[in-house]
Amino acid sequence: MQRLFDIAVPVPFFPWNTLFSYKEFEGEIETKPGQLVEVSFGRRKVRGVVVRETQKAPDPKIKIKSIHQICIEEPVFSAERLAFVESLGKHYRHPIGLVFEASLPSSIRNGTERTLKHTWPISMEAPNVLTSPFELNEDQEKSFQNIMNGNKAHHLLWGITGSGKTEVYLRCVEEALKRNQTCLVLVPEIALTPQLTERFEARFPGELATFHSAQTPKKTREAWFKVWTGRARVAIGARSALFAPLKNIGLIIVDEEHDGSYKQEEGFRYHAAEAARLLSVQTNARLVLGSATPRAESIALVESGELELNKLSRRASSGSKLPKLHVVDLKKGLAKENKIPHVEIKDEFDLPKIDGDFFLSPELRVSLDRTLDKKEQAILFVNRRGVGSQFICKTCGESCVCPNCDVRLTPHSQKLLCHYCAYEIAIPSKCDSCGSKDEPFTRVGVGTEGLEKILAFHYPDAKVLRLDRDTVQKKDDLEKILTAFSNKEADILVGTQMVAKGHDFPSVSLVGILLADLGLSVPDFRASERTLQLLMQVAGRAGRADIAGEVIIQSFQPENPIFASLLSPDPMTSYFAFLKEELAKREVLRYAPYSRMALLRFDSLENNLAHQASRYVCDALSKINSDKLQVLGPVVSPMAKLRGRYRTQILLKCSHSESFDTALDWILQGWNKGGLEKRFKTRMLVDVDPQSM
Ligand SMILES: [Zn+2]
Ligand SMILES: [Zn+2]
Repeated sequence: MQRLFDIAVPVPFFPWNTLFSYKEFEGEIETKPGQLVEVSFGRRKVRGVVVRETQKAPDPKIKIKSIHQICIEEPVFSAERLAFVESLGKHYRHPIGLVFEASLPSSIRNGTERTLKHTWPISMEAPNVLTSPFELNEDQEKSFQNIMNGNKAHHLLWGITGSGKTEVYLRCVEEALKRNQTCLVLVPEIALTPQLTERFEARFPGELATFHSAQTPKKTREAWFKVWTGRARVAIGARSALFAPLKNIGLIIVDEEHDGSYKQEEGFRYHAAEAARLLSVQTNARLVLGSATPRAESIALVESGELELNKLSRRASSGSKLPKLHVVDLKKGLAKENKIPHVEIKDEFDLPKIDGDFFLSPELRVSLDRTLDKKEQAILFVNRRGVGSQFICKTCGESCVCPNCDVRLTPHSQKLLCHYCAYEIAIPSKCDSCGSKDEPFTRVGVGTEGLEKILAFHYPDAKVLRLDRDTVQKKDDLEKILTAFSNKEADILVGTQMVAKGHDFPSVSLVGILLADLGLSVPDFRASERTLQLLMQVAGRAGRADIAGEVIIQSFQPENPIFASLLSPDPMTSYFAFLKEELAKREVLRYAPYSRMALLRFDSLENNLAHQASRYVCDALSKINSDKLQVLGPVVSPMAKLRGRYRTQILLKCSHSESFDTALDWILQGWNKGGLEKRFKTRMLVDVDPQSM
């Protein structure tokens, strides 16, 4: 009798754990769990993964097909990896076949035995481990010992900027390799500059496999195969490195664990830091979450004893001092000038008029003068690109709005641009609302490009570099700008939050934060936490080695508690206290991590259908009679219209994990079984553990 196997097929099928039975492959090759196979599904041929041998007797009424082909004889998923992918599907209630699809690079998924063999001749080399050339300081040594030899396997490595977290990581990796284990190192996408990989490569020559979204499919296939065959024992990369097929994994590092790029926001939505924690539980690997500004969720895990806290509270290089911080109240400038802040530029060749002064407070000007005089460098941070924040009619006050999205267009020097859908128009000569002509508009606010113009006016001799998504378009642009700045080819670096991430600039003595409140008005329960993290990260760029640093923070609401926390002489203690207070609020309001949360997003080309669909689902949810489940909504999403689609949403909160799963499954199955997508001409997306509201 032929054996049957359960196969995960990449189709959006609910419940999430639906597998399909097929007869074993009728050929030379034996069918095994973990293999990538081709099967016919409906009229299509698709590639799925063999999960296990079928346990139940098949329904005699159903004709079972055979596996069409085994693409790669050797299983691409080990038993451990199969279990990991299943646990991800379970946590995120996402169709298992799609999770398998997301966890295998397309160049492997579409490959065959032949294409793989072609990539690498299989030969094992002797492992390379160079012993550390550095001495760890006392704090680093203690953390290293605790992480690799302590009783607890899960650790938070909380170290201020410049405290030498990377050196601790390197020592832990070295130790794991000596134990013949493999290592996974996750870093945020943007931090994956050649410097970091070079540092690891120099220490572990030939052992590294790199994964990130900018690399070619061929490079990804090579990296994946290098890990699969055991030639590389350290997988380093952005969130997709999580799926590197490491065997005998002993150590998982998540650097900058607070970074927003760990959340995958398309397709299979998962959080790589949380997924890494799941993986470490299943594999008994040691886990290190590292950050200068850990997430509130991680602090909660420290409080509950699930994570052990390791602190690095001193800068690693001796003599290196922490920067001095000042907050400047922008309202004072407003009162004096009696005007709204804006940059008025007639055309792109015109210099900004004196209004531009507003964004460079007298305090910041004095420090900038001093920095430039001393031939040191400054970073000026404003978390918005473009010339200003919006384009307003001087007569009627209306702003230019994107026709596809419900947002204002951002003025850039020669055009107006939608930052959500990339819609752009030339700067209009007439206001559509009131009809006024002859330069009817004025730019309000400031962005990186506007700041560049203001600086060109006030500091014509200073060399300025800009770092934002407009100047970083090609693969090496980021690296070029950072290298140029660290080689002192420019005096001032103007940038968005891209300047905040883990780069070392030894000559930077001044950091100016132009509009520190920008993130606080976002309607999200994490807004304060995120703003504080960002400001601390930016401030951490000031002062290295022998140069004393200064940070000037300009704000409209200096009384906000985040500034008290920033200015505290003991920043770690005050940050901890701030997050504990945040957590206390979340506990009362039943937000994460005290509840499981899911955001159901609805979008449709027709506004009333998006509303009807979310109302329908909400009514269904109200039938679940549980005081543990809270249903908020439906409401219009903060971005009411995006890329031409109208959006509504429902937020689910539940303090009981199983009830949460049951409610989600019920809705997902009902939605799919009932064909509600077709009926309402509306898409429903489910985001479990949402990171943005
Ligand atoms: Zn748009
Ligand atoms: Zn007008």
